[in-house]
Amino acid sequence: MAIVQPLDSSRLRLSSPEDGRHLEDLDISSTAEVDAAVERARAAQPAWARRPVAERAAILRRAVDVLVARREEIVEQVRAETGKPRVEALAIELVPACDFVNYWCKRAPRDLRTEKRGLHGYLLPMKKLRINYQPLGVVGVITPWNGPFVLSLNPTVQALLAGNAVVLKPSEVTPRSGEFAVRVLREAGVPEDVVQVVHGDGSTGAALVDSEVGKIAFTGSVGTGRRIAAACAEKLTPCTLELGGKDAMIVCADADLERAAAGAVYLSMFNTGQVCLSVERIYVVDSVADEFIRLVAEKASRMRPGEDVGPLFFDRQAEVVDRHVRDAEQRGAEVLLGGSAAEGDGLHFQPTVVTGADHGMALMREETFGPVASIMRVRDEDEAIRLANDSDYGLGGSVFTTSQARAERIAARMTTGSVVHNDAAVIYGVPEAPFGGRKNSGLGQVNGVHSLRGFTHPQPVLLSRGRAKRESIWYPYTDKTVRDLEGLIRHGFGSKLVRRLLR
Ligand code: NAP
Repeated sequence: MAIVQPLDSSRLRLSSPEDGRHLEDLDISSTAEVDAAVERARAAQPAWARRPVAERAAILRRAVDVLVARREEIVEQVRAETGKPRVEALAIELVPACDFVNYWCKRAPRDLRTEKRGLHGYLLPMKKLRINYQPLGVVGVITPWNGPFVLSLNPTVQALLAGNAVVLKPSEVTPRSGEFAVRVLREAGVPEDVVQVVHGDGSTGAALVDSEVGKIAFTGSVGTGRRIAAACAEKLTPCTLELGGKDAMIVCADADLERAAAGAVYLSMFNTGQVCLSVERIYVVDSVADEFIRLVAEKASRMRPGEDVGPLFFDRQAEVVDRHVRDAEQRGAEVLLGGSAAEGDGLHFQPTVVTGADHGMALMREETFGPVASIMRVRDEDEAIRLANDSDYGLGGSVFTTSQARAERIAARMTTGSVVHNDAAVIYGVPEAPFGGRKNSGLGQVNGVHSLRGFTHPQPVLLSRGRAKRESIWYPYTDKTVRDLEGLIRHGFGSKLVRRLLR
């Protein structure tokens, strides 16, 4: 069953992943329409940027009230397009959305105002440094279908606070959930041309990347990320890429096994396993593996399809999950629970527990993005760390241990963008954390001060102190210029000993 069917070159038919019912036919924005939206945004952006950041923040802060007032409609919209349980629409989309808007509106006036930076070098007596955080113009935001509302809202709010206009291209799989972010911001008071949405498939996204934008903020798969990076390189357009993951969970011998097993089930399967930071590989130390696996199987067997775990959101994803489980089975893994699509019209896949997984299997190497807990026994923590790092991805990772010190030691050895102790995935919901992927998992950060300032050009402005008619190294060059420079090198730098010897 398809949930996205092209009708012709300008329309897509969308159906519910829950039960296959027809949702709507969506008009695709043409390249000319994308260019026109960007042109309107370019015309509107300077007036938006001229408002003080505190004024932009005051407007955007009203979005929290709109989110609270419209929470039911947002939940219903997200659920219609994804089929995710109500708890997940609230916990993954709405709560972080409110938190992000609150946080960025509070931080932006401090983080985006002109900064006075102290100089420490030899220029200190002559110069003063200021840094202006200038907007980039129009930001193209391109987003995926797994967290369609919050992943659209978060970068859009940051880009707007920084004084940019935004044109959003949400996934064709969840267009109205993404569009809702734009509706909320307009209702809060952001002018219509300053925040816009264009709809369509990959070609619409490609048209946005090719248009006159000052930055692309992309969240999605590695393959698309590479194409976008190449297109941006051609035009020297800055971009951030938040891409896929294959996150490892390490279960140490001293872990609280009840928590580790409950975490393993939830963190592999929430949002039907379709989270960039899902636990996709579990390495459990041999001495506790039997009990851990028993607990995981027991907890996973109690999951209620439809209530605890929704459908896959996208038909192509269903094929990937099935292929990974079949491949693991053929290569000797044991499917302890589930393992195939559930009966019915929708895209439901049974909660699945696989043991005896190894790195020869796609299940441990490629992004599965389904409700599958894949478990591999390891000799000890060293082997777990080595295997966790043996991946083309490097988004997140987690360590389950009762010792915080052990968690910190292991985290320092993991080559991932982030590490969480006795939990996982939640790092995306921490706006203070500079979250971003390593290796194939991306470029740049989506949260933290680097992310907010990433929507600006930090422009250093060097101010001259005093009223001297010329700098000492300006023309004409004289013997005194040379003596002064040599004196600076001898007395201004080098260790105390060298300076004493040279005196
Ligand atoms: P995707 O296929 O890469 O699509 C992402 C977005 O890019 C969609 O809006 C898509 O449009 C658009 N697009 C496709 N081809 C394009 C092109 N050539 N130029 C410009 N835009 C193009 O990813 P997805 O399947 O929607 O999302 C799942 C992936 O996102 C997973 O790999 C997941 O791990 C990753 N993800 C990462 C994070 C993170 O923060 N690191 C968060 C969430 C998800 P259409 O959908 O309309 O084709």
